[in-house]
Amino acid sequence: MQELTHYIDGTHIKGTSGRFANVMNPATGEIQGKVPLASKDELYNAVSVAAKAQPAWGAVNPQRRARVMMKFVDLLNRDMQKLAETLSREHGKTIPDAAGDVQRGLEVVEYCIGAPHLLKGEYTDSAGPGIDMYSMRQALGVTAGITPFNFPAMIPMWMFAPAIACGNAFILKPSERDPSVPLMLAELMEEAGLPKGILQVVNGDKESVDAILTNKDIKAVSFVGSTPIAKYIYENSAKNEKRVQALGGAKNHLVVMPDCDLDGAVNGLMGAAYGSAGERCMAQSVAVAVGDIGDELVSRLSKKAEALKVGPGMDKSSEMGPLVTKEHLEKVKGYVDLGVKEGAKLVVDGRNLKLQGYENGFYIGGCLFDHVKKDMRIYKEEIFGPVLSVVRVKTFEEATKLINDHEYGNGVSIYTRDGDAGRTFASKIQ
Ligand code: NAD
Repeated sequence: MQELTHYIDGTHIKGTSGRFANVMNPATGEIQGKVPLASKDELYNAVSVAAKAQPAWGAVNPQRRARVMMKFVDLLNRDMQKLAETLSREHGKTIPDAAGDVQRGLEVVEYCIGAPHLLKGEYTDSAGPGIDMYSMRQALGVTAGITPFNFPAMIPMWMFAPAIACGNAFILKPSERDPSVPLMLAELMEEAGLPKGILQVVNGDKESVDAILTNKDIKAVSFVGSTPIAKYIYENSAKNEKRVQALGGAKNHLVVMPDCDLDGAVNGLMGAAYGSAGERCMAQSVAVAVGDIGDELVSRLSKKAEALKVGPGMDKSSEMGPLVTKEHLEKVKGYVDLGVKEGAKLVVDGRNLKLQGYENGFYIGGCLFDHVKKDMRIYKEEIFGPVLSVVRVKTFEEATKLINDHEYGNGVSIYTRDGDAGRTFASKIQ
């Protein structure tokens, strides 16, 4: 079994805490590796390496830092297939979804190539009598990121690329479920010319996260993950006087208007609800059917959801891979059970899917609920699996109110042929 490492000061280092987490292969249900869970001392050691390396990197002029990003983009493209396969093996998503994960991160790195321009300061002439003012954008020092399992390439890149392009050092604490791609990204950044110690990967769980939150040399923390942990990170980073951004869970609606191109809406929903097996913060897990379009929408969706080809992510013919862990599979199935109990109509039931040769994999077929009501937990809570809920409303106004009243309601789309309705929709969503 493969024993994974941390990546400290340009070297793969074995864990010394004696604690490990299993890294699963969701397609087969087998343990394929173990990842070390760092102690506070291991995390603090990485921070002291970063604090020593950062001043020299912060003094490199921004154009030269941007050149590292340019080279990194080339290397990501060179290794795209290898990264996607490694990602798929640990996360479970299909190879096209895994390559998309890398690609979306790569696009943030491309943006960071523009850092020299974005870092320009401002000058105010005569801010007061005889006083002119300059503002400059300067590196903070050591920064850190804590990332979720569902985008193990994109989300680390969202965080470390801007931080490093701005001259900071970065400690990445990836999800313990799929840590291999983050380690590969750190190697590629060094191949692209990044000095040692500027991007380090410390694998771990709550203990290393708590060490990030208390370490005095870490000036800023970025988090993406579930809402309860996001709140915890936000509160404790703020308490320890760090800059912090913490992004949590989601529930996204797609409004289907009676005048829309229904095939377009159905195809859009199939990708948005079932892509990456619904393990996406931006998954469109609620379809809001307006007026009398509900029956036809559900009829077309159910045919496609039933035909969805579920299989190992590495199999080219699979349209949807397994969920990340057995625990998560049980949680998602539990939500489907709950929806039935709450009185929603389960039109497509993926709970009993069995794949020959992959009996222990974490598979569930696409699920489709109709007549979901706004007080049901399957509507209110994030399921994070391939479960699409159809809520029927009479009017456009009712649709916008439903979305605005949702605790999350953060990503919304509309299918309509009426440009004015689209613009009104955008202006009504809060
Ligand atoms: P998670 O909250 O379980 O884990 C995220 C990170 O926090 C991991 O690195 C994990 O090791 C760490 N962590 C877990 N428990 C902790 C604890 N008790 N104390 C300190 N740290 C802890 O999230 P996940 O299951 O990996 O990811 C899925 C969630 O992420 C979903 O809710 C999804 O919506 C959200 N997400 C949000 C966005 C966004 O942009 N808003 C993007 C992607 C994912």
